[in-house]
Amino acid sequence: MTAARSGEYDVAIIGAGIAGIFAAYELVTRRPDLKVALLEQGPAIGRRSCPIIDKRSDSCVDCPTCSIMRGFGGAGAFSDGKFNFTTQFGGWLGDYVGPDEVMALIEYVDRVNVAFGATEESFSTYTEEADRIRRLALGYDLHLLDARCKHLGTEKNRELLAKQHQWLTERLDVMCNAKVHAFSPRKDGGFALETAKGTVGCRFLVAAPGRSGAEWFTGQCRGLGLEPINNQVDLGVRVELPAAVFKHVTDAVYEAKLLYRTKQYKDQVRTFCMNPYGHVVTENTDGIITVNGHSYTDPKLRSENTNFALLVSNRFTSPFREPYQYGKRIASLSNMLGGGVLMQRYGDLISGNRTNAHRMEQSFVRPTLDATPGDLSLVLPKRHLDNLIEMIQALDRLAPGTANHDTLLYGVEVKFYSARLTLTSELETQLPGFFAAGDGAGITRGLSQAGASGVLAARGILKRLA
Ligand SMILES: Cc1cc2nc3c(=O)[nH]c(=O)nc-3n(C[C@H](O)[C@H](O)[C@H](O)COP(=O)(O)OP(=O)(O)OC[C@H]3O[C@@H](n4cnc5c(N)ncnc54)[C@H](O)[C@@H]3O)c2cc1C
Repeated sequence: MTAARSGEYDVAIIGAGIAGIFAAYELVTRRPDLKVALLEQGPAIGRRSCPIIDKRSDSCVDCPTCSIMRGFGGAGAFSDGKFNFTTQFGGWLGDYVGPDEVMALIEYVDRVNVAFGATEESFSTYTEEADRIRRLALGYDLHLLDARCKHLGTEKNRELLAKQHQWLTERLDVMCNAKVHAFSPRKDGGFALETAKGTVGCRFLVAAPGRSGAEWFTGQCRGLGLEPINNQVDLGVRVELPAAVFKHVTDAVYEAKLLYRTKQYKDQVRTFCMNPYGHVVTENTDGIITVNGHSYTDPKLRSENTNFALLVSNRFTSPFREPYQYGKRIASLSNMLGGGVLMQRYGDLISGNRTNAHRMEQSFVRPTLDATPGDLSLVLPKRHLDNLIEMIQALDRLAPGTANHDTLLYGVEVKFYSARLTLTSELETQLPGFFAAGDGAGITRGLSQAGASGVLAARGILKRLA
């Protein structure tokens, strides 16, 4: 069934990332009679293209709409789609419904993905081999988090999204290039949305704007008298080294999420988003270029390197409440010095030298991103640098070679935490009929929980409509 094309809907969803997609999927699967609009600021999945990934440019050209972050499929579309089955990381959905329900929702999202063609194969940290790595890591005070992980693969992830886009287009109004400028409650209990494609009205509203829309969303919520809270930002570097260094770890668990508390500052540092045989890429958040990584499933597209993020978690206390700005300003320093992402060899960092083109020519590790050689000590605060160096030395015991002179550090990698609203166990805000889901609402930090949150919000709405 195709929803009627009108400006009035039962449900409008802001953002076609995985949270918005799964909210839409759940609504029209359970109630095909509903009129649902899925509004996305960026282009359709088939029209998303990044000049760097398409090899049309070596560096970020600051496109008006960053295809890495926006468009049908959301921020996950160009990722290699590591789908984690866990409540230990990737969000705080468990704070609303409890860990068992979160796991059931994640399994549900996975089954839907499988029906659209996602792989059945997954890696687990519960195997004998993974247990060996866990024990080895513990000996160096590194703590391996438990999770089953599915690697969808960058190219497969896009195929999957293209199928979901088609499926949804046949059942509801998927509006791409339709940025929502503002939304407000109406007197009749519904909502009015001012969009790039005109005014849209709805009875129920789901906001799933992702991290790229988080700042806008926070402003909208404040305007409606809903005060979101945020006091955390994770800041660090992306490490790139020969895949052989971490092979015993990545073969066992694919992605190792390792936690470490530094002896000097007692800060928590973690590995994140590990990409065996992967590529380092840039990410554009509101004009600030930061670094990220991904990897393909197709062996022909693989590199010789593994990359992963090393992140230091910072929680700020009152009166400071702008961690987002803090992260952005540090990232903008690297942009100012390097015209984008800076890259430094670990050995140069330790010996106080700037990495330059000549030193890079001597490097045994070939970078997969064309970043500017430079000096990260001019960008990152001392506390962060000390924490990162201590963590690299700890990792070197688990994976000898991590602290080699030529290990590459790209900076900066920032994980922004969107502000969190007060929500019910069905993810309804204090404004009746207004639901929030995914990373932009500060509830999640990854694909699996973001998708699960979309389903949860949709089920809350379906109960109201029953
Ligand atoms: C390069 C990269 C790699 C990643 N790799 C992984 C991984 O391997 N595994 C993992 O679990 N997670 C990964 N992540 C994180 C993951 O992509 C996110 O957690 C997930 O996409 C969050 O889903 P979401 O639906 O909440 O938000 P998003 O996916 O960010 O989608 C939100 C959408 O809302 C749209 N939007 C925002 N504001 C508006 C507006 N005003 N009007 C209309 N539309 C709007 C945006 O354009 C965007 O498309 C990665 C992220 C990046 C950037």
